[in-house]
Amino acid sequence: MQFKEMNLIAPLLDAVQTAGYENPTPIQELTIPLVLCGKDVLGCAQTGTGKTAAFSLPILQLLNDSAKTDRSPGAMRPIRSLILAPTRELAIQIHENLMQYGKKLPLRSAVVFGGVSQVNQVKALKVGIDILVATPGRLCDLIKQGFVKLNSVEIFVLDEADRMLDMGFIHDVKRIITLLPRQKQTLFFSATLPAEVESLATKLLRNPETVKIVPPTKTVDRINQFVYMVDKSKKNELLMDLLNNQGVYSALVFTRTKHGADHVARHLEKNNIKSMAIHGNKSQVARQNALNAFKKGKINVLVATDIAARGIDIAELPFVINYNISEEAETYIHRIGRTGRAGAVGVAISFCSSEEMSNLRNIERLIQKTIPVKECAWTVPNMSPAVKETSNRFIPRRPSKRTNKGGRSNNFRRP
Ligand code: AMP
Repeated sequence: MQFKEMNLIAPLLDAVQTAGYENPTPIQELTIPLVLCGKDVLGCAQTGTGKTAAFSLPILQLLNDSAKTDRSPGAMRPIRSLILAPTRELAIQIHENLMQYGKKLPLRSAVVFGGVSQVNQVKALKVGIDILVATPGRLCDLIKQGFVKLNSVEIFVLDEADRMLDMGFIHDVKRIITLLPRQKQTLFFSATLPAEVESLATKLLRNPETVKIVPPTKTVDRINQFVYMVDKSKKNELLMDLLNNQGVYSALVFTRTKHGADHVARHLEKNNIKSMAIHGNKSQVARQNALNAFKKGKINVLVATDIAARGIDIAELPFVINYNISEEAETYIHRIGRTGRAGAVGVAISFCSSEEMSNLRNIERLIQKTIPVKECAWTVPNMSPAVKETSNRFIPRRPSKRTNKGGRSNNFRRP
């Protein structure tokens, strides 16, 4: 199917063309027509599938088509669509996408999230907006202060509902839901459907259509995955070797803790590799600066904890490195799903110490495949794997001394 067969209006077709999208992704193909005809949708899909456009495009079209909003200068604009996202990063990204897709439409949107001053957000709200993207905590604060009214919302989106619950936002979300009109269209997205999420969906949705997109385990098939068996004390050396000698020129590195993220970023900086860390203890401004620096190629490595990295979208991210193997197998899929997007080749490299072996096995069970093991100078012999990666495409045989940046060889050949 092509976008032009989806009954999208010309300004939106122009926008997807400008964005460089050739065809709708599966979730877009299924979701856009349902939303356009007013259906409630339960979408089981993770970040990276194109779900933001799947709800943003039809919302923009519906709001644009219905003539309810008085767009004359100075006219009050009630909030007609509310999009709730669990993290600031995701909220910002959704808002950026809305502005990009809706560039040629006379609709206004704003984003509100915690961790920064509310002054500019309140200013944006006072101007009057059609679409509000928000994280739950800040939205509740603004509602309490009387800056936001939700009684005109026609379309409500709950994005990443499972994360929302994981992060403890359930009470805020429920409070917000009570303030929405009964009569509305609801779009509910979640990568997984644990009981609590399902029960929330059942309460919220009316005769929903369910859209399930390729089970997450399938989406990782197109990513080249490798694991190194190393002692935890050698992980920094291995990381340096990959960056200096194996052509890993830009990577998102995941650590288990905030302290770990700082430690790794500091170590890299000390060794002349430009890097920054993002985690919950960093201010919103610092996180956004680090993300922008990474996106623009000003730093080579962004070290992140899972929560801080949730929802961040970096086009053409070639490498994801799991400095620590995630404790939850599904987190592994979320992490590595950030590379290899939209058909690009991606590589996911994991460092597994003996303490993390059981986590690795759980991941392999979930993705139903054994992750090939790469050997390196620091491979722990007694962690001998069942399956070895024998090709010499990506095997640091010996630790090399740090060369200067210009001296980095690019001998990481993409598998
Ligand atoms: P999302 O799942 O919304 O986070 O989107 C993941 C990435 O896919 C983003 O970088 C989008 O810009 C991109 N994307 C969304 N729709 C399409 C499409 N139809 N074709 C190619 N890329 C897309």
